[in-house]
This record gives sequence, structure tokens and C-alpha cells, in this order.
Amino acid sequence: MKFKSKNFICKNCGGTLRYDATTHELKCDFCGSLEDIEKSNIKIEEYDFKEGLTKFSKKRVDSKEIRCQKCGATVKLESYLISSNCPYCETPLITDFTKPIEPKSLISFNITQKDAQERFKKWIGSLWFAPTKLKDFVDGNRKLTGYYLPYWTYDSKTNTRYSGQRGDIYFVRVQRRVEINGREQIVEEEEPRIRWTPVRGEVYNSFDDITVGASKTLPHLLLDSLSPWNTKTLVPFNKKYLSGFESEEYTIDLDEGFRYAKKEMERVIIGTIKSDIGGDQQQIEYMKTEYRDTTYKDVLFPIWSAEFKWRGKVYDYLINGQTGKVVGERPYSVIKITIAVLVVLTILGVAYYFGNR
Ligand SMILES: [Zn+2]
Ligand SMILES: [Zn+2]
Repeated sequence: MKFKSKNFICKNCGGTLRYDATTHELKCDFCGSLEDIEKSNIKIEEYDFKEGLTKFSKKRVDSKEIRCQKCGATVKLESYLISSNCPYCETPLITDFTKPIEPKSLISFNITQKDAQERFKKWIGSLWFAPTKLKDFVDGNRKLTGYYLPYWTYDSKTNTRYSGQRGDIYFVRVQRRVEINGREQIVEEEEPRIRWTPVRGEVYNSFDDITVGASKTLPHLLLDSLSPWNTKTLVPFNKKYLSGFESEEYTIDLDEGFRYAKKEMERVIIGTIKSDIGGDQQQIEYMKTEYRDTTYKDVLFPIWSAEFKWRGKVYDYLINGQTGKVVGERPYSVIKITIAVLVVLTILGVAYYFGNR
């Protein structure tokens, strides 16, 4: 399906403008001129969850065909991509959303590509037994790619009924036969026991901005481990922020995202129930939660990403573009570990030899 592409042009020289994380403005590739991103006063709102579930897309899009405004090449993008860079001339390509819910706000990049690169290098350097190839990969200045990825945020008020057991520790005196210096004696000891009492009750929790990654292109756990995000710094959506970055719309739906959010909320609710039960130990046998006033936002968060292929496996590394936090799966070099083990064994062997002379 054909889509229009947009890019932003420098008023001064006609060069290409890209978002600049240092000034938070658009910057010209060519002459360095800055262009303001107009600050809008639109309030960042929460939307009703139940109403959001009734929205469906009218058309199905398999892929997007767009024409680069600069070199005229036709570029094919995955259906969920909103912006990218022309593979031939690097000009930003920004196009339209196709999903029924569009992001109304985003967190813009705060960490520059250079800064992200340095943080990544430091992080890799701190890893023991990482393959040398990975360190070369970082030193070779393989560029990180900047992404705006979709997240859902959820607010909810919950009431949870529960029943379970409260355990209180008490002590009883017991007599025990022991042998002291070959003679049998009777001693008295305090022994702990637990008294279980059935309990039931209801607890209340209020959740604000539980964030759930809504992109399928990266592992879900990895996306969620980038948190916390400071959603107080959300700004109203503007296409200018996307200029120069890859960006996606959601591929995990509103209701599927809420299922992940529920798991997160459940962990907190269990904590509330345990402190409500009190005592020394708690058992929860039954719990049922009702979610009220649930609202959501569709937002975009900034992420720097690197992909490292090693021995037929792909490792993803992500850097939070707001806070600089680095997360990723790390490969282990078997050779390095083997050498380290051999060195340790040798040292132990030498020590043993000299210790026994
Ligand atoms: Zn310019
Ligand atoms: Zn081009």
C-alpha cells in the first residue's frame, strides 16, 4: 500500500533536519541551524480502557511503500513502522499511523547517540568472560540505532477480596534427653511452633502509569527491564521528534498489554494482602481482584539499540534513551572461562605442591 512520507527541511540551506537530543530541537545536518519544536499546551490525558477496547482498524496494511523526498527511491517498510531513514541517502522518512489508537504523547531522546555509545562501551567492559569479538564490536564504533518504541501505560484502582491463613510463632517448653560427657541428662528447651488462624479481608490499591512494552520486534522481558520511565516528562506528540529515528506503532494490543500490567499489579497486591494479614507468616488461599476506573495512554519511549550476532545467535542490547540504563543478554566466551578455570587449577596445584613439601 502506498503511503506519503514527510521530512523537515532547513529554512536556511535546504538541508535535512533531525531531532537533536542535546538541544531538544531540530538540527540541520548540513549547516547546523536549529529549529524549535513548538511547545503545545495540550494536556496529556488518560483514556477510558473499556472504550479503547471498542476501537478497531478499518483497513489491514501488510507493508508500506513510500517515496524518499530527496533521492526519489521507493522504500518498502514493515506495516508497523512509522519512521525510518532512507537506505540510500539517509534522509528521514516519516509516515502515518494505521492502528486505531495513535500515541498522543512521547518521551523525547535525552541521551545522545555518542553518550549512549560510551555507556554501552563501559557496560560491556565491566562484563567478565565476554567474547573479545563483542568488545571489538563496540570499539569498532558500530553505530547504535535510535528507536521510538510503543508502550502502553495503565492506571487502575483495585479492590481485592482474599482469604488465607495468618501464622503466629509461639514457643513451648520441651524436655529433651541429651548425653553430656557420656551421662544422660534431661534439659528443658524453648521450641518454636506456628499457630495458623484463618483470615479473610479486602484490600485496596491504586496504580499510576504501569508501563508495558507494546512492540513485538524485541523480547518483552528486555523491553520491560528498561523501566523505570519518568512519565512526568511526557510531551504532546509531534512528528518532528521522530525525525532521524526508527519508530513503531503498537503490535501488542491494548487488552494483551493489560494482561501484562495485571501481572505486575498482582505482585503489588500480594504485598498489600500480606501486610493486611500481619503476623509472622502468611498464606493466601484465594484472591479476586476487581479493576475500576482503568485508563490507558499510548506513548512512545526513546531507546538506543544494538544487535550482536555471535555463533548463530542474536543478542539484543538496549539503552534507555531517557535515563541511560543499559540492559541485555550477554554471551559468555567458553574459551575464556576454560582458560580462567585452568589458571585457577594451576594456582591451586602449585599451592598444594608447596604446601606439602
Ligand atoms: Zn541548514
Ligand atoms: Zn533517499
